Amino acid sequence: MALVPTQRPSGPASLTQAGTHPSGVCPECGSNRVTALAMTLTDGTPVQFSSCHECEHRLWSHEGEALEFTDVIARATKHKVS
Ligand SMILES: [Zn+2]
Repeated sequence: MALVPTQRPSGPASLTQAGTHPSGVCPECGSNRVTALAMTLTDGTPVQFSSCHECEHRLWSHEGEALEFTDVIARATKHKVS
């Protein structure tokens, strides 16, 4: 029985990280003076709204992924069709 060492990819196992915009840090200026609020859009999508106190950058994200502002507006104004 040959024990073959398993080749491990370099670096830690790639956990799913949406980390383009880690919550708590402003992607614009890098400040951590960010207020994050959880809210639910009209169509039921739970989002996090972050606002930077330093540069007033606003950021919306859903499950760790940044949302375009226009997408947020679209969702917020979308009427449920059932
Ligand atoms: Zn900022």
